[in-house]
Amino acid sequence: MNFEERLAQENNCCGCGACENICPTGALVLKPDHAGFLYPSIDEIKCIQCSRCINACAYKKKNEYISKEETYAAVSKNTDVKKSSSGGVFSSLAFNILKDGGTVYGCTMSRTDKEFDPHHIRISHPKDLSLLQGSKYVQSEIGLMYREVKKDLENNLTVLFSGTPCQIDGLYGYLGKDHPYLFTIDTICHGVPNKDLFNRYIRYEESSKKAKITNYVFRDKKDGWKLYGRMDLQDDSRKWSVYFEPEESSYYQLFLNRYTYRENCYACPYAIKNRSGDITMGDFWNIDLIHPELFSGKETGISCDNGVSVLVINSEKGQELMKRYGQDMELYPSEYNKVAQYNRQLIKPSEKPEDYEAFRRIMNNDYSEIEKWYQHKMMPIRAKRAIKRMIPAKQKEVIRRIRKR
Ligand SMILES: Cc1cc2nc3c(=O)[nH]c(=O)nc-3n(C[C@H](O)[C@H](O)[C@H](O)COP(=O)(O)OP(=O)(O)OC[C@H]3O[C@@H](n4cnc5c(N)ncnc54)[C@H](O)[C@@H]3O)c2cc1C
Repeated sequence: MNFEERLAQENNCCGCGACENICPTGALVLKPDHAGFLYPSIDEIKCIQCSRCINACAYKKKNEYISKEETYAAVSKNTDVKKSSSGGVFSSLAFNILKDGGTVYGCTMSRTDKEFDPHHIRISHPKDLSLLQGSKYVQSEIGLMYREVKKDLENNLTVLFSGTPCQIDGLYGYLGKDHPYLFTIDTICHGVPNKDLFNRYIRYEESSKKAKITNYVFRDKKDGWKLYGRMDLQDDSRKWSVYFEPEESSYYQLFLNRYTYRENCYACPYAIKNRSGDITMGDFWNIDLIHPELFSGKETGISCDNGVSVLVINSEKGQELMKRYGQDMELYPSEYNKVAQYNRQLIKPSEKPEDYEAFRRIMNNDYSEIEKWYQHKMMPIRAKRAIKRMIPAKQKEVIRRIRKR
């Protein structure tokens, strides 16, 4: 088996790009496969068989992280939580690192003429923080950003690197060791779709709406901390925004329902307690059920209205970061296992839905076929919803609490 085959086995490659970053001759680049997912591709003429790509591949090594599991509900006090997806844990830490002269890495999603391009960038000014705020539910391309991190560390800059757990592990694999100035923060993650599928969806929406989508926000907080999204549109004569619930978007709902991820996400080795980041962040879903005391009307020191993050301190460096900057967050102690009850990615990878294969057979077809498949699938669910809407709100809340027990 050659390097390319060893690196690119479907279930054994997360597309983090450690191999591309470490390749000294530029022989190895990540390229999309038939379904749009990035895998290593090697130019045999340029390859000098140095094996650095194989050695940097953290994904194939055993996960040896041990987490302290110090878990909190957290809300940022020093940044605009409404711009963040959950409670702004990332932006609070990032703001402080930037203010103190460090650099921050994370995912932005800009639009070129042709398409949306989710990718990692480096920022060094607090004014650019909003580029990284908000979840983009598409795999972020790392490009050659691990090399930039290394340069920053060599220049004695403090670095905060955020990304999916596999991207964090990929960074450590590329660097070969931890570094005292490097701090990492991983997202709880149930899997990533690819940008090709996302852009095919965008083009489908654009042709049905007869307008250009200039901005796509997965988590808009106009109506509070939910999974609601927003797209900004423009045609020859006007600009406007459309707000939507996930099920009104085939792409979003198929993502949430686990149809569209990379193959390896369904066997993700990071969807366990031993997390790769110094800190783990996510949405503190169902906080009202886990901590009803926060909603008893008494003063508790944490405001839940605009979103709450779950924050897990995994390592000593995570503790150090919180010692330095934790005072800029409202913190409320919690427990890993309790949070994981409603956020299963903290303990196990996403499972494929029953009709996953049926979907994958059409995933590369024209997007209109995906849309048709999705609409057909939603018919009975929508009928059920219509019936549910007839139940009074108070009774609904009682049923929700009984079912969550
Ligand atoms: C693909 C994906 C799946 C997720 N699944 C879950 C889940 O199942 N349960 C859960 O609780 N939370 C999940 N999250 C995390 C959640 O959506 C929020 O990103 C997290 O709570 C951080 O919120 P914040 O308010 O602290 O950060 P914000 O201030 O909103 O900042 C966003 C942070 O997320 C990073 N980020 C955004 N998009 C990407 C991306 N595509 N790839 C890598 N990093 C990205 C940015 O770099 C930044 O650090 C997921 C995030 C992603 C990207």
